[in-house]
Amino acid sequence: MQVHKINIHIPELSLILLIGNDDLKTSFAHRHFTSSEIVSLSACQDLLATEATKELDELLHFVVSKRLQLGKLTVINAPCETQALRSALVRLARRQHVPCAAIVLPSVQGPYQQKLPHQEGFKQVYILQHVEALEQVIIHRQPLESNMKQEKGPFDIIGDVHGCFAELEQLVLNLGYNITLEDQYYLSHPQGRKLVFVGDLVDRGPKVPEVLRFVMDTAAQGMSFCVNGNHDDKLKRALEGRAVTISHGLEESLAQLEKESSYFKDKVINFLAALPSHYLFDEGRLAIAHAGVKEKYLERSSRRIRDYCMYGETTGATDEFGHPVRANWAKRFVSLTTVVYGHTPILTPEWENNTINIDTGCVFGGKLTALRYPERELVSVTALKKYYTPLKPIQS
Ligand code: MN
Repeated sequence: MQVHKINIHIPELSLILLIGNDDLKTSFAHRHFTSSEIVSLSACQDLLATEATKELDELLHFVVSKRLQLGKLTVINAPCETQALRSALVRLARRQHVPCAAIVLPSVQGPYQQKLPHQEGFKQVYILQHVEALEQVIIHRQPLESNMKQEKGPFDIIGDVHGCFAELEQLVLNLGYNITLEDQYYLSHPQGRKLVFVGDLVDRGPKVPEVLRFVMDTAAQGMSFCVNGNHDDKLKRALEGRAVTISHGLEESLAQLEKESSYFKDKVINFLAALPSHYLFDEGRLAIAHAGVKEKYLERSSRRIRDYCMYGETTGATDEFGHPVRANWAKRFVSLTTVVYGHTPILTPEWENNTINIDTGCVFGGKLTALRYPERELVSVTALKKYYTPLKPIQS
């Protein structure tokens, strides 16, 4: 008889809920996870010497919360049979920006199979239909999407491109890369360097599709990386047909992409949708985020982290141009991790607390800048022209 393995992929840092009868949960947990990864209700009962549900729940939640904060994979062997119990744990994981997955063991029949999935906020739900299936399960642990710690560079990190392909090509050549264009772009560097983009590839500039083609091709070859910028996110939503305000140079992107094939546009949507909020490279020594990041967000993911990385920190006030006033997150950033970002055009990049903004406003007639890492040297090319007028003057 053919044996079908059942592969379950879980993020290496996640909260795992087991749903099923107590005996099955206990044997499944100990078979697939180490005892230091399992938090059980019975352990809480032993510690508190009580059966009082409220106290036990409080302890369990405290322990789970602390573990996730410390970055430890946690498997719950405790009652999760009601939606109220499950959603309390899903919320707890969300507060620590950690994904939550459910594994439904075969003792639970019928009702869960239809009701559990995504609406309860689980990142993944695995349903094991039959008891025989338990024998075939293999758990795979996957790195979180921002974890590129094994990529050690050297890198050339490039600021907001905004469709300025001519300047991008010149900068990349000046950095010593070879670019060839056949059926697609190919990139190589004699010293094995790779490119990292801080996001905002699109909008305002003259050659948005060409920038996308270059970054998509070289990313697929493992020669470049890109994080999600607010303009990339908005273009993706517009291409998906969602209702967005067409402003701030989105009109240029849409007009230029109109001339491209639907195959290319679909490829762009998929590429933009997969951009992570941030990346962590070089054993955690280097982080790239579009507008900024907090140390406690590094490597994790959630809606809140996505928004923070795209827009940075704001004070809640608006300026005389109707823009949200940006707070200087970098001033308070204390970490051993170097953060390179863009988003806010400036005249000259300057280091602040191990962070540096390298958006030198190329599309506004400034420069396109790269930071060489680990050398920490800046290399720039001057814009060929002013493609777009900024709404407010660029800060010095
Ligand atoms: Mn930008």
